[in-house]
Amino acid sequence: MKFSFFTLFPQLILPYFEDSILKRARKHELIDIECINFREFATNAYQAVDNPPISGGAGQVLMFEALAYALWEARNSHIIFLSPCGKPFKQNDAARLAKKPHISFVCGRYEGFDERLIECFGDEVFSIGDYILTGGELGALCLADSIARQIPNVLGNADSLKGESFESHLLEAPNFAKNTSNFEKKIKNLQKFATPSEYSKGNHNKIAGLKHSLASCKTQYFRPDLFRTHLAVAKK
Ligand code: SAM
Repeated sequence: MKFSFFTLFPQLILPYFEDSILKRARKHELIDIECINFREFATNAYQAVDNPPISGGAGQVLMFEALAYALWEARNSHIIFLSPCGKPFKQNDAARLAKKPHISFVCGRYEGFDERLIECFGDEVFSIGDYILTGGELGALCLADSIARQIPNVLGNADSLKGESFESHLLEAPNFAKNTSNFEKKIKNLQKFATPSEYSKGNHNKIAGLKHSLASCKTQYFRPDLFRTHLAVAKK
């Protein structure tokens, strides 16, 4: 899978792929990263890529021309614009997009893009939440990260993808790490938060059943909206 990032700030993108799981994925050639600074496609002497909006008002808008030249080169890839107006990015989008060979992320800045760019070049538009960021880079990284971990062999253990939050519209059941010291005994009241004894008895069917119940409780508590979808889908 190749990820291309169209951005005015490549240095916000590249370091993210220089550590941990995504660094290893690059090393094993499971993912390939490139950044294209669309300023290089500017056609004016000042390499400006933004202009005031034709409607008047505050701020600058990314101009059609420079970005259009840049995106023309990427037209054979799956082009995703990051924008607050996009549909909210979801886990099932990550799984679906992990099957594409080449995705280009277009990161806005200032007041955003000349809208015609989205119409002409966008295959999809995604938002990462109902809040405004200064640019699309963080959003593009969020998408790329969650897509990359769906690609076979990117995670060390493929089982890590099973039963994760959002599968079947539930959150993952609570997890607890094995103790390696007696430190926990020093923390007063920790007994009140005993871990489920069934977890450590090794009966995998019982553990799976308990985890399902706990996942349901956790989802009802933290994400009642998600739980309603879970119930509605289960009824069908
Ligand atoms: N004026 C725009 C508006 O009100 O919708 C916001 C522009 S924002 C300051 C600049 C860029 O950041 C956007 O073009 C987009 O690429 C990115 N961005 C900001 N918030 C975002 C979000 N919630 N999801 C995805 N991208 C976002």
